[in-house]
Amino acid sequence: MNECIFCKMVEKKIPVEIVDEDEDILAFKDIKPQAPIHVLVIPKIHIPSITSITKEHSRIMMKIIKSIQNIAKKTDIIDSGFRIVVNNGENAGQAVDHLHFHILGGRSLKWPPG
Ligand code: AMP
Ligand code: ZN
Repeated sequence: MNECIFCKMVEKKIPVEIVDEDEDILAFKDIKPQAPIHVLVIPKIHIPSITSITKEHSRIMMKIIKSIQNIAKKTDIIDSGFRIVVNNGENAGQAVDHLHFHILGGRSLKWPPG
């Protein structure tokens, strides 16, 4: 049985506030926002992490990039700037083992990150 919480969101078994969706990707508001705009974009298929991406995922990855562009426009952070974060593995604090792209914006973001 699949225990992945993001797969459950895709299956609509866990409610999320959807920002963008098509047959391959889902974007939803992060439940614990770290910035005024904090959206997660995920592939609908279970890809564990960025290191698991292969050439076969090219179309889905392009769709994720297009979705990020659309969300940045829709949430009005396209001109002010925003950050895309992909945590990978233990040292980065990856908590959910289903590939996800954080979109963070709506405030000035510090660099380097903690
Ligand atoms: P990461 O630490 O990069 O694996 O990020 C996982 C993200 O998923 C965190 O920012 C969480 O706040 C978010 N998250 C966990 N559960 C939910 C949920 N039920 N709805 C929306 N976001 C969630
Ligand atoms: Zn999953």
